[in-house]
Amino acid sequence: MTQDAGAPLAAMFINGQFQQAQGGETFVSINPANGQPVARIPFGDDRDARLAVDAAADAFPVWSRLSAAVRARHLHRVADILERRRGEMALVITSEEGKPLHEAQGELQLSIDSLRWYGEEARRAYGSWIPDPVPGRRLLTQRDPVGVCGAIIPWNVPCGMIFRKAAPALAAGCTMVLKPAEATSYVALKIAEVFAEADLPAGVINFVTGKASAIGNVFLTDERVRKISFTGSTETGRVLLRGAADHIKRTSMELGGNAPVILFEDCDLDASLRAVAALKFLNAGQACIGANRIYVQSSIHDEVGRRLADHARQMKVGEGSLPGVAMGPLVDMKAVEKVEELVGDAVRKGASVRAGGSRMQGEAYEKGSFYAPTVLTEVPRTARMHDEEIFGPVAALYAFETEEQAVELANDVPYGLSAYIFTENMDRAIRVGERLETGMVGINEIRLGAAEAPFGGVKMSGIGREGGREGLDEYLETKLLAIRVKG
Ligand code: NAD
Repeated sequence: MTQDAGAPLAAMFINGQFQQAQGGETFVSINPANGQPVARIPFGDDRDARLAVDAAADAFPVWSRLSAAVRARHLHRVADILERRRGEMALVITSEEGKPLHEAQGELQLSIDSLRWYGEEARRAYGSWIPDPVPGRRLLTQRDPVGVCGAIIPWNVPCGMIFRKAAPALAAGCTMVLKPAEATSYVALKIAEVFAEADLPAGVINFVTGKASAIGNVFLTDERVRKISFTGSTETGRVLLRGAADHIKRTSMELGGNAPVILFEDCDLDASLRAVAALKFLNAGQACIGANRIYVQSSIHDEVGRRLADHARQMKVGEGSLPGVAMGPLVDMKAVEKVEELVGDAVRKGASVRAGGSRMQGEAYEKGSFYAPTVLTEVPRTARMHDEEIFGPVAALYAFETEEQAVELANDVPYGLSAYIFTENMDRAIRVGERLETGMVGINEIRLGAAEAPFGGVKMSGIGREGGREGLDEYLETKLLAIRVKG
C-alpha cells in the first residue's frame, strides 16, 4: 500500500463510529487532474466488512420497526445536511473523480431528490386485501423490508449512486453496508460524515473501503446479507451473480451500457447536435448512459461529423474546479490507455479522425489523465469500439441508410441500457423507440434520470431498476397473510 503523510486521513464508518481498518493499512486516492493525493483511505478487508454486517444486522430490528414516517424524517434530515454542505461536497467529487463542478452539482441534486422522494414514497408502500375465493378466510399482503443490504458503488457517479441505493433501502426499512470504488472512496467517506451528522441510529448505514473482492465476498457469503445492489461493469456483475447464487440472494445489477444514438435526416439538427455533444462528453465520456455508437443517416453524416468536430475542438478541457471547464480528465492513466487502444483499432480499420485523437498536449495536462475530445467518422462496424464501452470522450459516427438498418445496428450488441433517437417525425420516433432493446429510450432528449423515474437496463446491461416506485420494490418483500375468520 502507498503511504502519503501529506493527505488527510479518512475513516470508515461502522456502527456509528469512524474507524481505521482492522489491519491498519491505508491507500492514497489521487486527483486525476493533477496527480496530487486527495486523501489516505483505510484499506479494509473481510474483517471490517464483517463488523459492518454485524452492525447492520443489529440495527435492522429497530430501524425496520420504526414507522415509515419517522424514517422519512431521518432521510429529510440527511437531505438538509447534504444541501447545506453541497458546495464542499461538489469540490470533493470533482477533486477525486475529475468531473466539472456543474456535473458534480447535478449528482448532488439527484441525491437530495432521491432522499426526499423515497422518504415520502416508502410511506405509500401499501399492502392489499385480496378478494378471497374461500369462505371464512381473508387474504392480505404487506410489504416488508428485505433486510441487510450490501451495496457496491462505481467510481463514475460516486455520490449519486450511493443515494440511489441508500435512499430507497433505508426508506423501506432495510439497513445497509456500502462499499465504494477504490478511486472515489473519499467521496463516500465524506458522505458518511453527512449521515453521522444526521445522527441515524448506529449501524443503519455503514461504509467500508478497501479490498473489493474480500468485502464483496462477505456480502456474498454472510447469510445475514439478504440483498446485493451492484452498479459497475458487466464483468464484475457476472462474478457477483455467480456468487449470489450459492445463497439465493436477491440482486440488483446496474451494468455496462454501450448506448446507440440514432440521428435521422429529419431531426432538428441544431438542437440534436447540442444534445449529442452534451451526452457524449458528459463526465469525459465515462457514463453508462453515454453515447457509445452514433448512427447518422448518410445524407447528414458529413455535416454532423464536421459540426461535432468544431464543437469538440472548442471545448475547454482542464481541472474540473476551474471556471468554464467543460470536460475534465479520465479517471486514471489506464483509462487513457484503453481509449488510445480503441481509437487506434478504429483508425487502422478505416475510421477518420475529425478532431482530437490523442492525449491533451501542454503543461496544464502533464500531471493528469487527459484525453482530447475526439470525433471519428466512417467508423466501420468491425471496430472494437462498436461492441465495447469506450468510456472516454470519443464520438464514433457510423453511417446508415434506412430506418430498418438503424434499428438492426442499434440492437446488434448484447447490451441494452439506454438509446436515443433524434427525429421530428413522431411516428418514426415511436415506431423506432418501441423496437429498441433497451431499458430507456430518449426521444429528442438525453436527460433520463429523476428520482421519480425507473432507471435500468435489459440484456447484459442488468437486472432491476433504480429510481421510481420500481426502485423501492427492489428493497421490499411481499408477505401474504391468510387469516381464518370465524362466524
Ligand atoms: P467495476 O465493475 O470495475 O467496479 C464497480 C465496483 O465493483 C467497484 O466498487 C469495485 O471496487 C467493485 N468490485 C470489483 N470487483 C469486485 C469483486 N470481485 N467483488 C466485489 N466488488 C468488486 O466498474 P467501474 O469501472 O467502477 O464502473 C464502470 C462501469 O459501471 C461501466 O461499465 C459502466 O457502464 C457501469 N455503470 C453502470 C451504471 C448503470 O446504472 N447501469 C451506472 C454507472 C456505471
